[in-house]
Amino acid sequence: MDKNFQKEEFTEVIKFTPPLYKQRYQFVKDLVEKYKPKKVADLGCADCRLLWMLKFCRCIEVLAGLDTCASVMKEKMHMLSPLPIDYLQPSERSLTVTLHQGSVAHKDPCMLGFDLVTCIELIEHLEESELKKFPEVVFGFMAPSMVVISTPNSEFNPLLPGVTLHRHPDHKFEWTQAQFQSWALETAKCYDYSVEFTGVGHPPTGMENVGFCTQIGVFFRKYPQTGESVQSEKPTEAVYKTVFKAVYPSLKDEKFLQNAVVNEVIFVAQNIKHHLMSKHEEYDDDPERESRFQPSVDYFSDYLRKLVVDQTMEPFVKGNEVYIPLVTIFSFPKVNRLCGTFEKLCKLIAGKVTLSSDGSAVVFNTEYE
Ligand code: SAH
Repeated sequence: MDKNFQKEEFTEVIKFTPPLYKQRYQFVKDLVEKYKPKKVADLGCADCRLLWMLKFCRCIEVLAGLDTCASVMKEKMHMLSPLPIDYLQPSERSLTVTLHQGSVAHKDPCMLGFDLVTCIELIEHLEESELKKFPEVVFGFMAPSMVVISTPNSEFNPLLPGVTLHRHPDHKFEWTQAQFQSWALETAKCYDYSVEFTGVGHPPTGMENVGFCTQIGVFFRKYPQTGESVQSEKPTEAVYKTVFKAVYPSLKDEKFLQNAVVNEVIFVAQNIKHHLMSKHEEYDDDPERESRFQPSVDYFSDYLRKLVVDQTMEPFVKGNEVYIPLVTIFSFPKVNRLCGTFEKLCKLIAGKVTLSSDGSAVVFNTEYE
């Protein structure tokens, strides 16, 4: 920034759209979409808003938050719980969200094995002694493949109305670009990481030297590390307190998969039966017509007609029972995708759906319509 810059010279009130905190979260979200980490920990997670945004990133299977302040985490942590829709339509991915109360100055084994660790507007809240321990805990102990650290750029402060010393009364310091970059480069060098600098909150035109309002360092671990070696090499006592844990329903869990498959099988079979019965009733008066499947013109029937390639796949009515071959049901994309193999379909619906005596078809009694 121009050393002669006077605050009075700049009269326009800076307003960021979207708000700066949202830009920071979006920055993290974009990184997640780009690098697809499976395990993400947010240190200094406060009211869990970033974690809430990240739970919608489909690549993430483990989300953890850490903060010294349990009450701030608890404010909105219910937002991290599964919704009824998550139970009605369990996702393919598994997702576990955990919140811990503890300090980034202490090591805890629950923070091992993460791919991405985010520290958004955290370091400026740390006491000198905590800041000293922070690199060893995050880069030495947790050692994720990526770390994102954001912190205020003090050179931007003169452009912010009402800011005298720091942007927030709890900030212990605010660094210039040079100060942050020198700390980050030193830390990266010490723990074998590389670091790239960027930020969010553009300075006004003509004042580009001031830099971003929020400065960001993105660190990449230079050496490979396997998940298995991490835990065994670093025996440490647990010191954090778990204050929240949610395990989302997932199709990876056999009981949710079975539920989903049974529901889908019944849905498909009911639809086929419905179409078959409507045709069957139309021809009821005409004994010449056989009660084989005669699709009508809508999308479902159209699809079904294409599927039914041979007689063994054809649904039929016998007496007051409708038979819908499992091979036909298995040909429906969702059933197929859920089960993977025909054998798995048979295994999952066994005892849950009424089948013909040879087990090859779903049977419905038309009298119980
Ligand atoms: N990351 C959030 C909150 C930033 S405020 C956001 O971007 O909105 C900083 C947070 O760090 C506060 O919630 C504070 O309680 C927490 N904090 C302060 N010292 C900490 C420490 N030593 N370890 C973990 N969290 C800490």
